Amino acid sequence: TTVFVPLDAAALSMGADEVADAIINEASKRKLDVRVVRNGSRGMLYLEPLVEVETSKGRVAYGPVSVKDVPSLFDSGFLDGKDHKLGHGLTEEIPYFKNQERLTFARCGITDPFSIEDYRKHGGYDGLTKALAMKPIDIVTEVTTSGLRGRGGAGFPTGIKWKTVHDIAADQKYVACNADEGDSGTFADRMLMEGDPFCLIEGMTIAAVAGGATKGYIYVRSEYPHSVHNLRQAIEIARAANWLGDNIQGSGYSFDLFVRMGAGAYVCGEETSMLESLEGKRGLVRYKPPIPAIEGLFGKPTIINNVMSFAAVPIILAKGGEFYKNYGIGRSRGTLAFQITGNIKQGGLVEKAFGVTTRQLIEDWGGGTYSGRPVRAVQIGGPLGAYLPESKFDVPMDYEEFAKVDAMVGHGGLVVFDDTVDMAKMARFAMEFCAIESCGKCTPCRIGSTRGVEVMDRIIADVDRERNIELLEDLCETMTDGSLCALGGLTPYPVRSALRGFPEDFHKPAPNKF
Ligand code: SF4
Repeated sequence: TTVFVPLDAAALSMGADEVADAIINEASKRKLDVRVVRNGSRGMLYLEPLVEVETSKGRVAYGPVSVKDVPSLFDSGFLDGKDHKLGHGLTEEIPYFKNQERLTFARCGITDPFSIEDYRKHGGYDGLTKALAMKPIDIVTEVTTSGLRGRGGAGFPTGIKWKTVHDIAADQKYVACNADEGDSGTFADRMLMEGDPFCLIEGMTIAAVAGGATKGYIYVRSEYPHSVHNLRQAIEIARAANWLGDNIQGSGYSFDLFVRMGAGAYVCGEETSMLESLEGKRGLVRYKPPIPAIEGLFGKPTIINNVMSFAAVPIILAKGGEFYKNYGIGRSRGTLAFQITGNIKQGGLVEKAFGVTTRQLIEDWGGGTYSGRPVRAVQIGGPLGAYLPESKFDVPMDYEEFAKVDAMVGHGGLVVFDDTVDMAKMARFAMEFCAIESCGKCTPCRIGSTRGVEVMDRIIADVDRERNIELLEDLCETMTDGSLCALGGLTPYPVRSALRGFPEDFHKPAPNKF
């Protein structure tokens, strides 16, 4: 019997290693033939560690499993898929999972992340196989047709970026993957890198063939040691199977890939700052132009995309740009991996086509708050994303629709707060975050954020409140208009959204100091 226990960091943090050992020990004690496969996560993090058993009807799920539950699982016959108090029936029938549209995450949690045979069996490398037989410009056209836009947050059309690099002649070109994933409430990149690393490798290889690059780098944040490990191991396996390296599968194309670890600065998720860091320098933001597609890594044309953008590419090539484009609404095509976190009952990853609403995500999937209290605000798009009040929960997830209400979809991370949250404190936190993480290159962000914290402190302490609120608005305008990059430029989003959506929190009596 095959039993699956995830190796994803979220499952590990809940004791997955210990559960896997306990299952192996219990099976050997009972002289049962059990094979434990360490898979990626299915994304239902509230059920981790989610143990699955292969049966003739499909995989049956049990979770969250702890070591002490293992003997009773054996006693109740879980190896035959029998019921248990932790049982959820067939994994693919669990509504949380069933009601998703898994394109990028189609394999995550299903395959063994280190088995290239398993990857191939589930459609892996179909996209690259097609790409290797195509002209590079036709690959670019396919990606343009799909409507794919940068999943890191900016939403820039991926096809346009690739075409710029394709059209330039250069002795060396690069592909660089931004896996810095520093936004609060996000873990989609990590889940894919740990659970289906070949998918990212394949997407980057397709980009390399399209753009004419021969070397690639994945810039992973240091907080993700499991991602680094899994990627390095998968790269070795792909090299040995000639899916990376010289003359890939006899196609004449060569591409090799390397993993680099960041040192923990949020601003290194900004593409030019990431390039500086990749070159071994301090992560300072570069002036643009030149854009990285023309002068990027080591001054050479570079395709830079986020993990989720690259990981969407294999299915686009395998099934065609038109297939992918059929998902979504307006100019937001395809799917996005939404990550539901914060004060939420059922946290996890939900891949859905654009158009789904915040309310659906936090109610239908999330099941409301963990505390059981009413939801008051949801921050979407990382620490620089807007705080949405309940009145905006029905705005469809779409880059343009969100922009209309001064919010952004970003990387798809949702952080939920209940009615005990103090939004003035959250606004202060945004300014403080910017002050700590500012790279220091431009004045509005470097000085503005520090002054912003001081102004917020005065508002909270009820010192000359009306004038300081006015000052805060002014400061936000300067930061929006005058900052060099998105860190300073977007900090006003959470501040202003808190101010506009929750004004009552800025007009409370000052907290009693004694
Ligand atoms: Fe650096 Fe902030 Fe200016 Fe960005 S906005 S370049 S992080 S100082």
